[in-house]
Amino acid sequence: SHKPFQTAKPVLEKIIQAGFEAYFVGGSVRDVLLHKEISDVDIASSATPYEIKEIFSNTVDLGIEHGTVLVLEGGEGYEITTFRTEAEYEDFRHPSAVTFVRSLEEDLKRRDFTINALALGIDNQVIDYFEGKEDLERQVIRCVGNPLERFNEDALRMFRAVRFISQLNFQIDPATKEAITKLHQNMANVAVERMRVEWVKTMMGIGRKAGIHELLDTNLYTVCPHFNEMREALVGLGDNQMTRLTELQGWILLAYYADLSDKQVKKLMRDWKCSNQLMNNVATGLMTLRKRLEQDYDFFMAYDCQKELAMEVEAILPSLGGTSDQRNLEAVYKDLPIHQVNELALNGHDIIEILKLEKKGPIIGKAMNLMKEEVLRAKVDNTKEALTDLLLAADFV
Ligand code: ATP
Ligand code: MG
Repeated sequence: SHKPFQTAKPVLEKIIQAGFEAYFVGGSVRDVLLHKEISDVDIASSATPYEIKEIFSNTVDLGIEHGTVLVLEGGEGYEITTFRTEAEYEDFRHPSAVTFVRSLEEDLKRRDFTINALALGIDNQVIDYFEGKEDLERQVIRCVGNPLERFNEDALRMFRAVRFISQLNFQIDPATKEAITKLHQNMANVAVERMRVEWVKTMMGIGRKAGIHELLDTNLYTVCPHFNEMREALVGLGDNQMTRLTELQGWILLAYYADLSDKQVKKLMRDWKCSNQLMNNVATGLMTLRKRLEQDYDFFMAYDCQKELAMEVEAILPSLGGTSDQRNLEAVYKDLPIHQVNELALNGHDIIEILKLEKKGPIIGKAMNLMKEEVLRAKVDNTKEALTDLLLAADFV
C-alpha cells in the first residue's frame, strides 16, 4: 500500500537535488495514514512548471497555467503541481487567478479540509499545519481556516464535505456544518456535473447514512436537482441496510423510495446530467426491481434487462423485504430463447411473404411482437416452422 510512494520517491529526490522542495500531498497522504490502499500520488513542489520541465526529460503539459506537469519516469506518470494559492473566486467555482508561491504552507492553506491538507516528505515525515492528523484520529471533516470564507471561495467544497463524511464515515465539525447551513444556497451556482460526482461518491460510501443526514440537515439537498421533492426518499436511501452500493443501485433505490414513474426517473437522471446509458439502466433496473418484488424472474424480465443489471437489482431485493435468487436468475439467462428481436427465426421479409402482405406496414411490427411474446412465454419454439404456423393462425386486424 505504501508502494506508490516508494516508486515515486526518486522523482521527489530529483526535484530536491535540483534545489527545490517536493512533497506528497492530498488524498494519498490522508489515505495512507488511514491505512487504506492508495493508487496514485499527487506531488507538490516549489519548482515552477518550467523548472520541472528542465529537471525531467519526459514531460507532458497538463495545465501549465494551473501549475500542473506530468512527469514520465520509469514507465510511470506523476502529476507535479507547483505550490500555489488561488486568489479571487469569481463564480464560486473557478479561481480567477492562480499565483505560484514558494512555500508549502501557503499551498496547503488553500486546500479544503484539514485531513486533505497534509504533506509527506521523502524522510517519511508528515507535515501538518492545521491539525489534520488530529482530525483524522477524531474522524472529523473540518475546513482549513474560516469555513465561511472557504465555502464562499468555492461552493462545491460544501458537497465535498458531505462526500468525505460518507466515504470515510466521519463526522462534521460543528463550525463547518454551520457554515454549510448558512451558505448552502451558493451551491446553486455550481455545475450539476460537478455536484453529481460528489453525490455519486456520497451514495457509494460506507458512511452513506451520515453523509445523507448532513446533506439533509444543512439544507444542501434543497439546491440539488429534484431533491426538494425527495426528502423522504433520501432518508430511505440513508436508512437502507445495504452497507455498500454501486452507483446504479444508489439511483435505483432512490427512485424506488421516491416512487417515481418511468418518466420521472428519466427526468431525474437527465437533470442530474447523467449519460443516456445510465439513465436507461436505472429506468430498466427500477422496473425489474418492482416486478421482482412481486414475482420470480421470467424470460420477459431477462429479455428487458441485461444480466449484469439484473444481478445488481437482485442484490438490492433483501434490503426491501424481497428474496434474491441468484440460481434462478442464472438459469433464466442461460435458457433465454432470444435476447433481441433479430434473433427470431423469421424476419420482416419472411413476414411479408408468409402473410402475403402488399407492402411494409404496422402488421409487421405486430407480427414481430407476437412472435417475441410467444417465444419468451415459451409457448412456441424459435424455428421457422413453428413461427410460420403461429403467424398463419393469428388474426392481425
Ligand atoms: P479522492 O480519493 O476521492 O481522489 P482526494 O482528496 O484525492 O480524494 P481530489 O478531488 O482528488 O480529492 O483532490 C486532491 C486534493 O486537492 C484534495 O485532497 C485537496 O487537498 C485538494 N482539493 C481538491 N478539490 C479542492 C477544492 N475544491 N478546494 C480546495 N482543495 C481542493
Ligand atoms: Mg484524488
